[in-house]
Amino acid sequence: MTALHTLPIPRIPATATTHEHAWLIESRHPTSEGTVLYVRCAECATRRVDLQPHPHTPPGALSAELAPLTQSARRAS
Ligand SMILES: [Zn+2]
Repeated sequence: MTALHTLPIPRIPATATTHEHAWLIESRHPTSEGTVLYVRCAECATRRVDLQPHPHTPPGALSAELAPLTQSARRAS
């Protein structure tokens, strides 16, 4: 007898450690130090502030990654 139980697809919570963030620039602000970029991950909504010293150099992280507050979204299933 074969039990054709379909295994549930493991739901991996979207946290900072489970994927590579896909940063989207929400806003940019030119400063004397370069362009400050406010970015947000399209997948998990983690935010970060980057600084791009020159237009032709890649931006670097200026702040830590700020995870979104999801306390109300947590539900045991
Ligand atoms: Zn992310």
